[in-house]
Amino acid sequence: MFPVLLYYNFKPIADPQAFLQRQRDFCKVHGLLGRIYVSEEGINGTVSGSQEASEAYKQMLRAEPGFADTEFKEDEANTVPFARLSVKLRPEIVTIKSPIPLDPTTEGGRHLSPQEWKAIMESGDDYVIIDARNNYESKVGHFEGAILPDLKNFYDFPQWVDETAEQEIPKDKKVLMYCTGGIRCEKFSVLMKKKGWLDVNQLHGGILNYAKETGGVHFRGKCFVFDDRLVVPVNPEDEEPIAHCEITGVPADTYLNCANMECNRLFVCSEEGARLMEGACCETCKNQPYKRPFSPENAFAPFRKWYKYFGEDFKVRETGGCS
Ligand SMILES: [Zn+2]
Repeated sequence: MFPVLLYYNFKPIADPQAFLQRQRDFCKVHGLLGRIYVSEEGINGTVSGSQEASEAYKQMLRAEPGFADTEFKEDEANTVPFARLSVKLRPEIVTIKSPIPLDPTTEGGRHLSPQEWKAIMESGDDYVIIDARNNYESKVGHFEGAILPDLKNFYDFPQWVDETAEQEIPKDKKVLMYCTGGIRCEKFSVLMKKKGWLDVNQLHGGILNYAKETGGVHFRGKCFVFDDRLVVPVNPEDEEPIAHCEITGVPADTYLNCANMECNRLFVCSEEGARLMEGACCETCKNQPYKRPFSPENAFAPFRKWYKYFGEDFKVRETGGCS
């Protein structure tokens, strides 16, 4: 088994370029793959490799000045769920593009432990839960009763707050928010507080930490992750898919990237649907030239492994990345 690390830390980095280079060099030497964003506000990453390499990585990052308190969410996978290493400089380590400045280190909401979160959900108190993720994530799994904003990108949330939350959520209502690993709430909670909500709470460590600590009660479906696994289980007692295959309509929670490389759209698809459409998302895509050849065994193979199939310069549309 291979550990999959997910982590972030909002800490000022004086020289992001040098910091980034140390990250890249270390990962290359230790054979770690994954995705790391570095900016002046900190680091956000997910990497995977051997047990030893993962341990060494944790030590290395915690040895950077200011990063000793970095928390790692750790999962395991049968194979390393990344095809390559990508280390990038970004203006923000999680992109919300807020028109007002947001500082997660001094202004965030109250962090709830998974147990505190569960207790509130079982208390009968008056509250709202906001799913702070994108529509294709909440589609395959979410907390019971959560508001699921129909947004494609995290940076669409500021507009959603102004146009929808302002109308529908009273400022004195208890607000609970969650995301995959906690980082999006670090900024979203600051935004809601600055916009006037008084009781803003965020799930510490996100869904992945909640699953580990509580067994995932009150969560329906599975959790979308930004690596080749695409979805991971949350609640072993309730693994019924809550989404439906876009081709056949049967309950399903497996995602597929459209086999037409020029489309590459992520869509919910059952095995039967994949066979019918040969891995494409629709009839049109099924008949396009840059289509990955279909065989039932590779129907759900990670699309990133197909980069080189059509030649080095063929650009695949990526599905982005966040945690
Ligand atoms: Zn398509």
